[in-house]
Amino acid sequence: MDAVENATQHRAGTPGKRATVVGAGIAGLAAALRLHRQGWDVVVLERAPARRSSGYLVNLHGPGHDAAERLGLLPALVPRDIGFFTSILVHADGREKFRIPSAVAEAAVGSRALSVFRGDLESALYDAVTGLVDIRFGSTVRAVAQTAEEVTVTLDDGTRLHADLLLGADGVHSRVRELVFGAEDEYFVDLGHMVGAFPLESLPAQVPDGTGITFIGPGRTAAVMNLGPRRSSAFFTYRCPDPKTERSLGAGPALTRAFGDLGGGVAEALRGVEADAYFDSVGQVVMDRWSHGRVVLLGDAAWCLTVFAGYGAALALDGADRLGTAVAERPDDIAAALDTWERSLRPEVLKRQALARKGISRFAPPTRLHVWTGEMMLRAIQLPGIRGLVQRAIERANN
Ligand SMILES: Cc1cc2nc3c(=O)[nH]c(=O)nc-3n(C[C@H](O)[C@H](O)[C@H](O)COP(=O)(O)OP(=O)(O)OC[C@H]3O[C@@H](n4cnc5c(N)ncnc54)[C@H](O)[C@@H]3O)c2cc1C
Repeated sequence: MDAVENATQHRAGTPGKRATVVGAGIAGLAAALRLHRQGWDVVVLERAPARRSSGYLVNLHGPGHDAAERLGLLPALVPRDIGFFTSILVHADGREKFRIPSAVAEAAVGSRALSVFRGDLESALYDAVTGLVDIRFGSTVRAVAQTAEEVTVTLDDGTRLHADLLLGADGVHSRVRELVFGAEDEYFVDLGHMVGAFPLESLPAQVPDGTGITFIGPGRTAAVMNLGPRRSSAFFTYRCPDPKTERSLGAGPALTRAFGDLGGGVAEALRGVEADAYFDSVGQVVMDRWSHGRVVLLGDAAWCLTVFAGYGAALALDGADRLGTAVAERPDDIAAALDTWERSLRPEVLKRQALARKGISRFAPPTRLHVWTGEMMLRAIQLPGIRGLVQRAIERANN
């Protein structure tokens, strides 16, 4: 007989609503934190056997920074902030073209911004919920069923969890989305690019201390940051017509094939690719609805923006925080609360997805002419008058 569990049994003595969250990533942990604060009993299911390491760099600014502040994460994140640094644009052989001083990036993004490893953001969230919600590693979902009164999740070991709300925060290849809304093919829009990113254990000697080098060529970008121990990382993206085959090669061989010809510390960084490096195709998730009855998708599972937006983690935090507000206002009418939340968030998601699609040509310019035009723009933003214009354009995009 299947084991049947009621999520409330795990928070003895705590009355209130029950939520099951699938995915202990940015969106899932943020939602768990937010719902716990309003008295909900929360169980989080995470497929990975244990917490993962640092991953890649994410920037939090605008509403994403505001959401991190509302969630109380800044005291943990500020000490982990990588901060702004000078970028050196290089030729393919590693020779310097020109520098973009850190002050230019700072002026463009503003002071309310953080640059942290994804793992540090996840740790800040994890530490905030530890002991308050029931997090189960090595656990995932086999089936979902719902009635007007509750939603039941069957785990892979046969355990059943009953809750008022199920949140699918299980990332771009979401299992909850597949079980409740349909196959990934229906919602995943491939953007024809690959991305690889990983921390560097040994510092890239060819990259000057405290800087990052960036190579931008037709169809590809490579960046290697030398910002000190546990702060250095590499990032790669390139156009790719057949992401499935590319993925099957694995990060090391695929990235070496695409970038192994480059100098300036890139080849050195590629020797540091580990088997668990982030390496995936780039695609957006486009859905007309993020909720169905008592099931709601959140974060990349619902609206993956892609790396080209530089805003997915920010929106995962903001979306989770706003979801908390919506269900707090209508605790007894979940469907209505989810409707309100979805209506308030959708314009922001559509805007960010459109910006991401536009951003492709910055990361993987289609031609040499595009590369040249991009360089001219980067040179131009260093002029004080132009810098102000760019800053205002970014502020408009963020608000
Ligand atoms: C290279 C790169 C750079 C980026 N830079 C930025 C940036 O500068 N700023 C920014 O805001 N965003 C950035 N992003 C985007 C951001 O990282 C994502 O949008 C964000 O992490 C999404 O969070 P999530 O919680 O929705 O999904 P994820 O972080 O993917 O978390 C999903 C979780 O669900 C778990 N899971 C998956 N399947 C199952 C299952 N079946 N059962 C149980 N658990 C499951 C996973 O193990 C994982 O823990 C970047 C992304 C990349 C790839």
